[in-house]
Amino acid sequence: MSVTPARRILAAATLLALLALSACAAGPVFHARQITAAPPSPSVPAPTPSAAPTTTAPPAPGSLDWYVSQVPTFAEAPPPQPVPLAATGPIPFWHRLPTDQKVAFITIDDGGLARPPAVADFIWRAHIPVTMFLNSPAAEEHDVYFRQIQVAGGVVESHTIRHTSLAGRSYDYQKQEICGAVDRLEALFGKRATLFRPPFGEYDSTTLTAARDCGAKAVLHWSETVHEGKVRYQTPEKVVQPGDVLLMHFRPALMDDLLAALQAIHRAGLTPALLEDYIR
Ligand SMILES: [Zn+2]
Repeated sequence: MSVTPARRILAAATLLALLALSACAAGPVFHARQITAAPPSPSVPAPTPSAAPTTTAPPAPGSLDWYVSQVPTFAEAPPPQPVPLAATGPIPFWHRLPTDQKVAFITIDDGGLARPPAVADFIWRAHIPVTMFLNSPAAEEHDVYFRQIQVAGGVVESHTIRHTSLAGRSYDYQKQEICGAVDRLEALFGKRATLFRPPFGEYDSTTLTAARDCGAKAVLHWSETVHEGKVRYQTPEKVVQPGDVLLMHFRPALMDDLLAALQAIHRAGLTPALLEDYIR
């Protein structure tokens, strides 16, 4: 998918530092990436009792190996063609990126409610490109967890401090909520957010101005939501379209949600890609 070799080398170096860090912090255990074969094709029949005695048992359903084995094999992602952005004026608000390239984007929001421990390993092993829109207090409280996903290739973006609706609020209030989170996330993760998602998707023209003044290049809504392993289409096509943005949350079923999103993207003939490669 879209994780570049350079990014993976950097990730591997950072991973070593993090492994030491997480060992000290008694946080969730994060295993180094295992060398794995390509995920088995669904068309390969299950081993039968008469098969060679060296056949290994299939992974137990629900295990990390099982999730990795269920990930479809995607076509190679095309070289990203970033969408054109105006140099001046309001920044765009998108439910779906204006691209014809055969890609869709996975985004994960919030961070305070639940953080399934295998997510970073899953993202790393299956090369899943993800963008995390985090509330800064949750990011601060669980920074090791989100840094592990960052090392696995995930990118942190901002989703305000307090997760209140911004629509109708003053410029100063909105700017404080957006810039305050951006500043804190930059201090925690070493990267300044360039994308913004307003809580509940609720916004007004002031939101676009405040987000731009805090460094955002675009404000993101979504085209599908994924919850408890089910994709819910918000658009009439009922199939993932090129440029679609899939929304899920840091909730207990996030592993299932990631898998459901990947399968829906694959069914549509698309490949997952990273938002930040398309909005530069
Ligand atoms: Zn949210």
